[in-house]
Amino acid sequence: MNWESLRKGQKALPKNEILADLYSLSRKIKGTEVNTTLSQVEGVEKKTNKYSNQFFMNAFGQISFISTGCKLGQCCFCSYGASSVELTPKIVAEEMDKFKVSILEKQRKGQDIYAILLDSVGSILDYNEFSKECLDIVFEKLEEILKEIKTIESVSFETHYQTLGTYDEKGNYVASNAIQKLIEFKQKHKDIGTFVIELGFESSNSELRDTLLFKNIDNETYKKAVDLLHQNGIEVEVNVMATLPFLTQKEQIAQSAQSIIDALTSYKDGGFGVDSVTLFPLNVRKHTFCDYVFDVQDNFNNKNNVNSPEFMHKTFPIWSMVATLNELIKAGREDLLEKVSVAWFGGRQLSADASEVYPEDWEITYDDFVEYRKNLKGENSRANIIKRLVKHPKFKEFEEKVKNQKDCEFSYMDRAEYIHRLISEMNMPYISCPNCEIGLGE
Ligand code: SF4
Repeated sequence: MNWESLRKGQKALPKNEILADLYSLSRKIKGTEVNTTLSQVEGVEKKTNKYSNQFFMNAFGQISFISTGCKLGQCCFCSYGASSVELTPKIVAEEMDKFKVSILEKQRKGQDIYAILLDSVGSILDYNEFSKECLDIVFEKLEEILKEIKTIESVSFETHYQTLGTYDEKGNYVASNAIQKLIEFKQKHKDIGTFVIELGFESSNSELRDTLLFKNIDNETYKKAVDLLHQNGIEVEVNVMATLPFLTQKEQIAQSAQSIIDALTSYKDGGFGVDSVTLFPLNVRKHTFCDYVFDVQDNFNNKNNVNSPEFMHKTFPIWSMVATLNELIKAGREDLLEKVSVAWFGGRQLSADASEVYPEDWEITYDDFVEYRKNLKGENSRANIIKRLVKHPKFKEFEEKVKNQKDCEFSYMDRAEYIHRLISEMNMPYISCPNCEIGLGE
């Protein structure tokens, strides 16, 4: 691996050389042009257009613009590459019109839409990815949609926290131009129940995010952004990852449960104060750093007839997600489940070149998680669904395995070094772990 040439011309890399190398590699892999035709989730109706995809499920509709891709991140698990076609206001107008037509068609069939989500292949409020002019057209067309379709009660936008605001010369955190537009739009549409910003978050542990996920978030700025949105009556929903890569399963469960608690704890009590969380499992996708590293580890293992260290395992059973939600119940925070939904996973028809690896055993829990999403009362309440799932023999098996797992002695930085050395030399990493009994290089 020629790290030097990989780093050439790259901006905003970490000072630490190992991390700078890994970030550069992750950007390069993610930058590869990818097929943005998303795989289809069972039960979700999808309409594919040249510049956008539309998704419909019950009373929910989504338009996803196929933009030139995320300009902000290099997250190790994300395959959000790009389309090479720049969106123009004309294209955006046409795609928004098609979205309206689809919603009206549904209405005619008696399937009213109550909630809509607008996003792109990264951040719809990032002018480097989705121009100011394009966003203006989105609001113009959204105005038309809301005028004609009175059932819509909730409008969401998915974006990165850095697009929400900025610090002025006096050091005050102020709304970005894009958020200012949303605030003005919201003021004109007082009849719409909720406006929501959906944000990536993954974990509340900044060391983990910086060292192993390559997702830089400044906690204080993030909290300020959430606060600013709240002051303007906009709700905030964040994604938390279950089955975090490069952690042991025991660590994954503890990390994800703690991240949910931190995300939902109020700002004044030291948390992030968001309104709701969507928990999602890692699907290892092609064109991601994770996929690349797991491949290298596999080759290394085959060549040397060894096993992966515990933190490099690449099996992500869905039971880890169940265990995460069960941790909340065990911690006496069953009340939080009301605010924690789960993302779609598994149950998909894959496009021919898709290579997502779904969580193991997803099909066993699929129907239960469909019910879980509905957030019902009584027998099928979220807590009762989780309490039922933890009685499944497969969960018991998983739980037993995790209980017997030894604690990993590698720090997150040790693990980054391990990965770096593995990629650099296809050589036995020099750090050793007495628990896994591998990695005993010189
Ligand atoms: S997770 Fe979000 S911020 Fe990270 S690379 Fe993907 S789109 Fe960008």
